[in-house]
Amino acid sequence: MEHSVSPAMHNSAYQAAGLNYVYLAVKVSKNSLKTAVEGLKALNVKGINVTTPHKVSILPLLDEVDEEAQSIGAVNTVLNRDGLLKGYNTDAMGALKALGGEKIEGKNVVILGAGGAARAIATAVGGKCSKLTILNRTSSRARWLARRLSKESGLKTGWGSLEDVERWMNGCQVLINATSVGMYPYMEATPIEAKWLKKDMTVFDVVYNPPETKLLREARARGAETVSGLEMLVQQGAESIKIWFNVEPKVELMRRAALKALNQMKRVN
Ligand code: NDP
Repeated sequence: MEHSVSPAMHNSAYQAAGLNYVYLAVKVSKNSLKTAVEGLKALNVKGINVTTPHKVSILPLLDEVDEEAQSIGAVNTVLNRDGLLKGYNTDAMGALKALGGEKIEGKNVVILGAGGAARAIATAVGGKCSKLTILNRTSSRARWLARRLSKESGLKTGWGSLEDVERWMNGCQVLINATSVGMYPYMEATPIEAKWLKKDMTVFDVVYNPPETKLLREARARGAETVSGLEMLVQQGAESIKIWFNVEPKVELMRRAALKALNQMKRVN
């Protein structure tokens, strides 16, 4: 938590909007989650963001969960409205805004990963693309997610192991890495060989530290359009601010603050 860029990103937006609030990063163990959530009411905390590993386990501790978060099965934002805790998932909208909805419309999309981020992104993207394939190191999780999506929305889906990538990359127009592969300090790791990246593809990596992963570097070198996870981080943060305060935050300011905090973290680490 001490390495989170979210406090810098949020606090810059609150200051600019004249909001008398402060965003803090707090590490909560699995055993303390229930007590921590109860404490939100006692302390009259306006809201929280929730991160891995609590995004799923927090659901039964909330008074209400909005429909999209329910269908994703994960919450990353909680609003405390007069003692009633309501859960939302802004990762989905954050990813959609970062990618640009029109880039997915009618496209053949491949998502690498089947964890929390992949679930949120698959739900958001699934409503727009023509076909969605989930590839994961643990292929049974990919199968579970793909089947759930096609059952819920009738979407044409495929699934497989990350090792079977060759079979699925033909025809892929949008590639999304929703695994943690390539994240600091393992920055020379990449989830897919560069030979599968093509000029006409859009390649989006959810990893935001570093802002340009090896996957994005290789995609850019091959002429593909790239989208950084930093943009998703900023957009999901902006969506959380709208839920808590009902204001439009200054996204450009948040982007700059997040990037600055990331660069400072690199010097510390
Ligand atoms: P989870 O733990 O829920 O899922 C991790 C995923 O990565 C799983 O699919 C897992 O596969 C896969 N994975 C992990 N290690 C490897 C490996 N060595 N090789 C292949 N696959 C691997 O995490 P999240 O979904 O919450 O987060 C994933 C990434 O997304 C993180 O880097 C996180 O920081 C980032 N993220 C970014 C956000 C943003 O705003 N930009 C928002 C949320 C997350 P398996 O199922 O086989 O274990």
